[in-house]
Amino acid sequence: MEIELKNEIGLDPENWEDIRCLGYQMVDDMVEFLKSIREKPAWKEIPEEVKNTYKSKLPKYPSNINEVYEEFKKNIFEYSKGNVHPRFFSWVEGNGTAFGALSDFMASTMNSNVAIGNHSALYIENQVISWCKEMMGFSEQATGMLVSGASIANITSLIVARNAVCEKMKEDGLYSVGKKLVAYCSAETHNCVTKAIEVIGLGNKQLRKIEVNDKFEININSLINQIEQDKKDGMLPFCIIGNAGTVNTGAFDDLNSLLEITQAENMWLHIDGAFGALAKLVPEYQDRLKAIEEADSLAFDFHKWLYVNYEVACVLIKHPELHRKTYASPANYLLAHDRGLAAGPDAFSNYGMELSRGFKALKVWMSLKENGINKYKTLISQNIQQSRYLGQQVSKNEKLELIAEVSLNIVCFRYVNGQLNNAQLNELNKELVMRLHESGVATPSYTLLNGIYAIRVANTNHRTRKADLDIILKEILKIGDKLSVEFVKKIMFKSK
Ligand SMILES: *Cc1c(COP(=O)(O)O)cnc(C)c1O
Repeated sequence: MEIELKNEIGLDPENWEDIRCLGYQMVDDMVEFLKSIREKPAWKEIPEEVKNTYKSKLPKYPSNINEVYEEFKKNIFEYSKGNVHPRFFSWVEGNGTAFGALSDFMASTMNSNVAIGNHSALYIENQVISWCKEMMGFSEQATGMLVSGASIANITSLIVARNAVCEKMKEDGLYSVGKKLVAYCSAETHNCVTKAIEVIGLGNKQLRKIEVNDKFEININSLINQIEQDKKDGMLPFCIIGNAGTVNTGAFDDLNSLLEITQAENMWLHIDGAFGALAKLVPEYQDRLKAIEEADSLAFDFHKWLYVNYEVACVLIKHPELHRKTYASPANYLLAHDRGLAAGPDAFSNYGMELSRGFKALKVWMSLKENGINKYKTLISQNIQQSRYLGQQVSKNEKLELIAEVSLNIVCFRYVNGQLNNAQLNELNKELVMRLHESGVATPSYTLLNGIYAIRVANTNHRTRKADLDIILKEILKIGDKLSVEFVKKIMFKSK
């Protein structure tokens, strides 16, 4: 009996005009949202009743798309993180752009799976990678790929660095080495590097977190001594992870020295340049970041300091054979053909862990075309200048204290009052940050530097203007003064 197929269904709209109308509405809403972002609070708390809607059960039956969209607008769109706002300065996060959002929409319309095949997306990703190499002065022969973020870009590189140690790593794993592999980085290195070292089987004890100097840069002498000691102890130093812009303060390790050491010791130099590597576009930083050109691998984000919409980062690896050998794994269903859809460039799955991948390259490609690299250079310089201005204003004010030198685009400072000790100031400044967020005026973040709680303004924001920095300082002083009175009262009450 022939199989009968009745009442077949699909997911296309019954009426394409409905989706067209809603699509136009979405574009209108997007433009209104971004155009008037400055008038909105930088952040607002999600009310309980809205949070409760996030707990509704799995939908069983269809809903009207207009109703779904209305619910999105009311309960989701309204409570975004705010990293599109001109006074968002938390962690290190970019704003995205309107054109970037539209290019994501078109990438999603194509819905290309950029793993394998003979189609435009693979070629465009390769083109973007070539642009990355050009931008960073990185070796032309290098291979690379776009990944979701610097965390994945870092681990993608460190796996290649590990496999480069020993021919048999792929077959026998770490057992093939016969010695403990040791990696080195500064104590200020991002925790995704620690996680990577743990996940690739080395164990975080084998990641030496070398002390930093007063500029939060790796102490080169301590590094050299530690490598010597480890060699004496029968271990195998194999990799240094250098920072081009630490997450806490934006510090640059002395990359030229790190390069010399790795070359002398036959080690791998990986650079975590999540946001800071982009400073290489600015003439003033070119010398300090020259070593990037010679590094074995480099990780950096597009979604931070190139302001591209989340999520997209780049990893570049100088050694094509080692890179490919690490990740290529033969499979009959992935064999390249000579012609047809299964021809095309070398599959990206030969260069990383992911098989199915979205067309992240399109928003990068469109954004770089829209603006041209020179505009990004200007914007990055602008963010650096703005940060210096903020640092200057902080230094000038006796109620404020700069906690770290402004080496790039991050300003760490705190509100001070001579009557309070460090622990009390830590508490005060933490409360200050929470109240500032709740005020909706601005959203800086925070960090601990040598036991000092610092308000941390990280500026990778293309919407920020000088006036925004003045507003944030004014509000910090206002809240600080109020808290100061409260805190001093509390101590006097306690001491009675
Ligand atoms: C943000 C950051 C990372 C992690 O990058 P993601 O894109 O969030 O995965 C790593 N290193 C540094 C220095 C960072 O600032």
